[in-house]
Amino acid sequence: MQDLIKKNPIYVPRPEHNLSRHSISQAALNVLYQLHKSGYQAFLVGGGVRDVLLGQTPKDFDIVTNALPEQIRKLFRSCRLIGRRFVLAHVRFNREIVEVATFRASHDNGQGEGIVENGQIVRDNVYGSTVDDDAGRRDFTINAIYYDISDFSLLDYADGIKDLHDGIIRLIGNPVLRYQEDPVRMLRATRFAAKLGFSIAPKTAEPIPKLASLLTNIPPARLFEEVLKLFLSGHAVASFQQLYQYGLFQQLFPQTEACLEDPVALKLIKQVMCDTDERLSNKKSVTPAFFLAALLWPPLLCQLPNKQIKGVNLQEKLIETSQKLLARNQLQRVAIPRRITVPMQEIWLLQLRLTRQRKVKKKNLKLLEHPQFRAGYDFLLLRVKAGENHIADSANWWTDLLADKSITIPVSRRRRKKN
Ligand code: ATP
Ligand code: MG
Repeated sequence: MQDLIKKNPIYVPRPEHNLSRHSISQAALNVLYQLHKSGYQAFLVGGGVRDVLLGQTPKDFDIVTNALPEQIRKLFRSCRLIGRRFVLAHVRFNREIVEVATFRASHDNGQGEGIVENGQIVRDNVYGSTVDDDAGRRDFTINAIYYDISDFSLLDYADGIKDLHDGIIRLIGNPVLRYQEDPVRMLRATRFAAKLGFSIAPKTAEPIPKLASLLTNIPPARLFEEVLKLFLSGHAVASFQQLYQYGLFQQLFPQTEACLEDPVALKLIKQVMCDTDERLSNKKSVTPAFFLAALLWPPLLCQLPNKQIKGVNLQEKLIETSQKLLARNQLQRVAIPRRITVPMQEIWLLQLRLTRQRKVKKKNLKLLEHPQFRAGYDFLLLRVKAGENHIADSANWWTDLLADKSITIPVSRRRRKKN
């Protein structure tokens, strides 16, 4: 199956590549050296190699070794084994966690714990004895370049260095089978294309729209993690374009997708993506609650009555509608945890309060103390930018109020508690 994997990988000795130990974190180096000193093989692989070769800073460093999880655990004081589908060791040095995996081998070699259901790998704990075994289990060619701590060389199993150079995301092996084994690889393909500005090789791209619905077989908690990586890592605009193009966005946010023909909805979605990328590039913080509140605002708005109906309490209606929206076809897809859905709903509720008649200034000033006031106000501005013109006056009123030097803006209750 892994027809792209070489029996003899391309060997690049240290003088012929630019991956220097200075670009590897101290924690990852400690783990690599300790494994090597204890007689095990140890390699850096994945994003830690790929991103450094591209001159970027890796998000984390992944290490593979022939030591078994229990053996890894014995070597490090602060080590935890995690995961069922894929057992990993997490080694902690100060604040950094280094992920260490044992070589994997093909799940169908009849040994160990490789469980496949309808072509999908639900457990992947068949250990391989060599790095050659492991290379065939990697997803993309650019992720199958290994940095060997024993002589600082690189091993390139699938012509990944050439693809890095040419800017191509290419699956190792038969794309249909590899997506069936793990449908999340479709999201990963689009994420790397977005993050690196690469294009997806035609054979790797072609099956995605047809197989997109396989994502319904993936645990929603795993998809939530993927959503964060796709949208809150500085390349949300590009991720959205990729996901939409390949029919993946509708698998994650079906109710939002259904609203995208409305130009105001589309503008709001694009605007929040753009603002998120910009904030991250300026080293400002972003919150999943604000982002997801925006992503789900268009379907929420669609489902709310657009006028005050006599005898209907709008606040109660909004709570009820938002709960239905999340329960109907959202949390089953992407398991947004409660610690995020609660502030999302607060931001939505604040939209009512911030756009109410403002006769009593004192009552409004009280709202400044609301823990989500800033998020709610920023959300109001976002809606105006997207073209919800009917609330522009309210937004201006708050902007003027915040600019009024005679008013002391209270620190929100929640923030005060933290300090
Ligand atoms: P980043 O950390 O920047 O998201 P990464 O490539 O390091 O990118 P990880 O999720 O940290 O991604 O995974 C590390 C490596 O493990 C990958 O580079 C790849 O070789 C392998 N890998 C991860 N997920 C899969 C998967 N679903 N199928 C096959 N291989 C995978
Ligand atoms: Mg990584």
